[in-house]
Amino acid sequence: MMTESNQSATTARISTYMLTIVLIVLALSIVALLFAVNAFLVGNEVVAGYLLIIGFIAMGLSAWLLFQSRRRVTNLKIEAPKIMTTIECLKCGFKSVREFQRGDYVYKELDKCQKCDDKMVITAIYKEVKEKEKSYNV
Ligand SMILES: [Zn+2]
Repeated sequence: MMTESNQSATTARISTYMLTIVLIVLALSIVALLFAVNAFLVGNEVVAGYLLIIGFIAMGLSAWLLFQSRRRVTNLKIEAPKIMTTIECLKCGFKSVREFQRGDYVYKELDKCQKCDDKMVITAIYKEVKEKEKSYNV
């Protein structure tokens, strides 16, 4: 539980960090373009040309960074693991697994067993972890 919350906190910090970089690069590109216009008006066309190129490269870079960070966030959303609840009949051993519902806890008594009419009990609540997610590090 502790590592999970730490991981999501790190992810949030990374996207904030990325967004700050994107905004800084974008601001620099706008400044470069403004200087380019200024240099052009003054009559220094060579400097204006260089500043124009720098401005466009920086703008492209910020757009690319934004695209990269967005794709990473989308991937995380898709790969969010499900929490599963195992329900078991202690009398006959009938077992079923369903998605975690609010209010579930281990040893909670649920509806009657489909087979023997005895009450069913939650025996386990766990996070469904796929192999791909285990190796996924941000
Ligand atoms: Zn049963």
